[in-house]
Amino acid sequence: YAKHNPKLSSQIFEPGMDERRLRSQKLAVALQLAIENDELNLVYQPIFHLKSGAIESLEALLRWHSIEHGHISPLEVIAVAEHHGLAHQLNQWVLFTACRQLRQWQRLGYDWLKVNVNISPNIFMSGELGSTVEAALLRTGLSASSLVLEITEDTSLWDTASSTDNLCKLRDLGVEIALDDFGTGYSSFSHLRQLPVNKLKIDKSFVSDLTTDPRAGDLVSTIVRLADSLDMSVTAEGIELQEQRDRLQQLGCQLGQGYLLARPMAADQVPDWLVQDQQRYTPAG
Ligand code: C2E
Ligand code: MG
Ligand code: MG
Ligand code: MG
Repeated sequence: YAKHNPKLSSQIFEPGMDERRLRSQKLAVALQLAIENDELNLVYQPIFHLKSGAIESLEALLRWHSIEHGHISPLEVIAVAEHHGLAHQLNQWVLFTACRQLRQWQRLGYDWLKVNVNISPNIFMSGELGSTVEAALLRTGLSASSLVLEITEDTSLWDTASSTDNLCKLRDLGVEIALDDFGTGYSSFSHLRQLPVNKLKIDKSFVSDLTTDPRAGDLVSTIVRLADSLDMSVTAEGIELQEQRDRLQQLGCQLGQGYLLARPMAADQVPDWLVQDQQRYTPAG
């Protein structure tokens, strides 16, 4: 009967499909072990104030080098985790690890430093995130105001009252919420107004278009004004060229992140980097 359903039959006969399913299954088994054995890693990419050059936060980004499977991109790790029921466990690991590491760095004297943690979208549909965040803060001693949760702007999420509810609970804890990859999803203006969101992160596709497409600048300045009127701050992602940085500043974008400014780095590089960065940016330092 599969023949009568073109979608189904094309799925059935799609070459390589079994391989993909097999890979996903194998990765899930390996991922479960990797989480339990602490074989995952976080790297950290700084977020800067564009005007002063001061650092505001470090974004934690997942890295997994599996002995069996090699490097697996974070997007594939997240997809596998969500598909095989490991998303909650993975998020717990990321949150706890990032909070603990930031708390250590704060103790070195950077008590103003924040950490941004990416949260996979469907975790917001479960009501469990609030207690996970609370537990991570409690166990690591990190204050809620040092934690920024990044969620991808994805329309399916925002439509339910319960996800707005969950967001409000999180904000009541005192953590900040950032909408990641902003501009690629479908948040409506009225919806955005109702969400307890503190920050918009402009997707890197807009930033890379800045130097080639005149309309990209208009879009960025529209987002900046939108954020202003909603009392949100704006961070541009994926800044690779000085020209892009200059233009973003001109357009009123306050915060930025990208290879031009700093690449993601391993946790054990962070303390030295912070020392050098403070020497570079502190006036009369
Ligand atoms: P994202 O949160 O939007 O992170 C930005 C991505 O852009 C990162 O890729 C970063 O390494 C990369 N990037 C930074 N600066 C530049 C630049 O100047 N140019 C270019 N081309 N890229 C730049 P990465 O680390 O591969 O992560 C990809 C995505 O995977 C992230 O996008 C995020 O959605 C997801 N992700 C990463 N770590 C985690 C995690 O711990 N949990 C969850 N749920 N998702 C994560
Ligand atoms: Mg992010
Ligand atoms: Mg992003
Ligand atoms: Mg992205």
